[in-house]
Order: sequence, then structure tokens, then C-alpha cells
Amino acid sequence: MLFEGLEHIVREQEPMARYTWFRLGGAAEYFAEPTNRTELLQIIEICRTEDIPIRMLGGGSKVLVRDEGVPGVVVRLSAPAFCEITVNDAQITAGGGARLGHLVSTAVRDGLSGLEQLVGIPGTVGGAVRGNVGANHGDIGQYTIQVEVLTRAGDIKTRDRSELRFAYRKTNIDELVLLSATFALEREEPHALAKRMQKLWILQKAAQPDGNFGMGAIFKDSGGSTAASLIEQAGLKGTRVGDAKVNDRHPNFIEVHPGASAQDVIRLIDLLRTRVFEQLGVELEQDVEIW
Ligand SMILES: Cc1cc2nc3c(=O)[nH]c(=O)nc-3n(C[C@H](O)[C@H](O)[C@H](O)COP(=O)(O)OP(=O)(O)OC[C@H]3O[C@@H](n4cnc5c(N)ncnc54)[C@H](O)[C@@H]3O)c2cc1C
Repeated sequence: MLFEGLEHIVREQEPMARYTWFRLGGAAEYFAEPTNRTELLQIIEICRTEDIPIRMLGGGSKVLVRDEGVPGVVVRLSAPAFCEITVNDAQITAGGGARLGHLVSTAVRDGLSGLEQLVGIPGTVGGAVRGNVGANHGDIGQYTIQVEVLTRAGDIKTRDRSELRFAYRKTNIDELVLLSATFALEREEPHALAKRMQKLWILQKAAQPDGNFGMGAIFKDSGGSTAASLIEQAGLKGTRVGDAKVNDRHPNFIEVHPGASAQDVIRLIDLLRTRVFEQLGVELEQDVEIW
């Protein structure tokens, strides 16, 4: 066995659909859920020496897994050791596997403002910092002052604010694992803050389709127009390929119906990109990652 001694945390041919928002796609060749940093380092070491591809999965809200599945190892930081959240004065440190929603609610409960703008965005802290998520004119990078990363060579490094760059849905954090991130926030009266978060939550819910799983946001907004408005202008609302369909009210979301395959979604994404370019001359930039 390739992962000898790690059988309790590594599974073979693990179906990935249950771990992603699209609820589609094949199996990961290996799927690992380490319970501590030592086990995580062991997995990385084996992958390095055996030349096996390795990918980190967070909440799976930005990943579409192909029907053929994922070669190599998919690692998920679901264990408590990777999900801790600690508050220190006006700073919060969260593990890469912690849910973003848990981080936001902890900050609000402790009267620390800034991150409430991100209420309602699915996924983990690792995925959020990596992709610099944002909503309501704010993004997570504004508040990130330090990250702890683990490199492909197995070294743990701390990167400070001065070394970090955040742009629209991008960062320069390119190490294999985001282990934790620290955010500097502002003090605010907790009741007023909680009320503001509730209002922002209503806005965020209105900006995305009802229901939870079985869909995903596809393109980045760029060039002053939202991806949704470009898709709508091109008359593509409701377009269907197989059992994947552009959401009628929120055209930057693709919903999947029973029987849909990941290939249906991929073909629909290609069709949207091609038609928007043909009709409006704008190249849509993909946000969702296809694995
Ligand atoms: C309904 C819905 C609403 C959304 N609304 C918004 C929104 O308002 N604003 C917005 O910006 N986005 C939004 N998104 C997109 C998505 O939620 C975010 O991009 C989210 O931050 C992805 O986090 P995740 O944990 O799910 O990452 P995943 O989808 O699991 O992974 C995304 C990427 O991050 C990497 N990654 C994850 N964890 C780690 C880690 N610990 N270390 C290193 N790399 C890691 C993965 O390898 C992958 O490359 C929405 C998505 C959905 C489905």
C-alpha cells in the first residue's frame, strides 16, 4: 500500500460528488483527511517522492470534478486540528479548514467588524483566502495580515502582510497548503454589528439562487459588467445542455438536474463563453476550477 501506516486517513477511489457544490463528477484516486500536521506532512512527503499529484479541497464551492475523476491525492483539512479559530484582542486567527461562516459569526459575536461583509459565502478559510473572496464591496484580503503556509517541499512558512498581494479574486499565495490566516479587524458594538450582518445576509441571499447544492457560480465579473448581465444580454438565460441549465434569475449560476454529468456543465460553460464573445466581444473569465 502506497500510504502504509496512513490507512486510517487515506481512502482509495473516493466519490467526490458529495464534497462539491455541484454534486457531480467521478472519484479521487486517493482521498486523505489528515488529523494533524504530522500526518499532512507525511502525505506530502509520499506524494513528492512517488511523484503523485496532490490537490487541496476546501468546501468544494468553486470546484467541478470531471466525470473521469481526479488522479492522485485530494486532501481535505476537515479535522479539528485544522479548523480552530482563536481571538486575540482585535485579531482573529483561523485554520485553513475552518468554515468561512464560522469565522464570520465568531468575529461578529466578539464585536469585531470587517468580515461580516462575507456572510453567506460558502466554503472554507483556505479557499476564501486563496481566491480572495469578496462581496458587498469588500474582500477577505483587506483584513488578512498574516498567513501560515506549507510548501510542496514540506516546509511551514509564515508570510506577512508586506509579502502578500490581493487582487480581484486572486492572491500571490501559491504554496500547496494554506494552514491558517490571521485577520486584523475593528471593534464595533456587537448588537449593531449583528444587525448589519443580518442585512448583508439578506442581500447576499438575494444575489444567489435558492437552495444549496447542485449549482455553482461560473465566471468572474470583469470590465465593469457583471458576468450575469453579459450572459443575460446575450440572451442565454435558461440555456440548457443535457441536464445542466443556466439559472433563470441568476444567470452566472449553472444548476444541475437529476441525470446531469460534469460534461454537461463543461459544455454549457464553453457554450456561454463562446456565445458571449461572439455576440458582445467580451471574453468571460472562468472562476470555477475544473479538476
Ligand atoms: C452559492 C455560491 C455563492 C458564492 N458566492 C460568492 C461570493 O459572493 N463571492 C465570492 O468571492 N465567491 C463566491 N462563491 C465562490 C466560492 O464560494 C468561493 O470561491 C470560496 O471561497 C471557495 O472556497 P472553498 O473552501 O469552497 O474552496 P474549494 O472550492 O474547495 O477550492 C477552491 C480553490 O482553493 C484551494 N484551496 C482550498 N482550501 C485550501 C487550503 N487550505 N490551502 C490551499 N488551497 C486551498 C483549492 O485547491 C482550489 O484551488 C460562491 C459559490 C457558490 C456555490
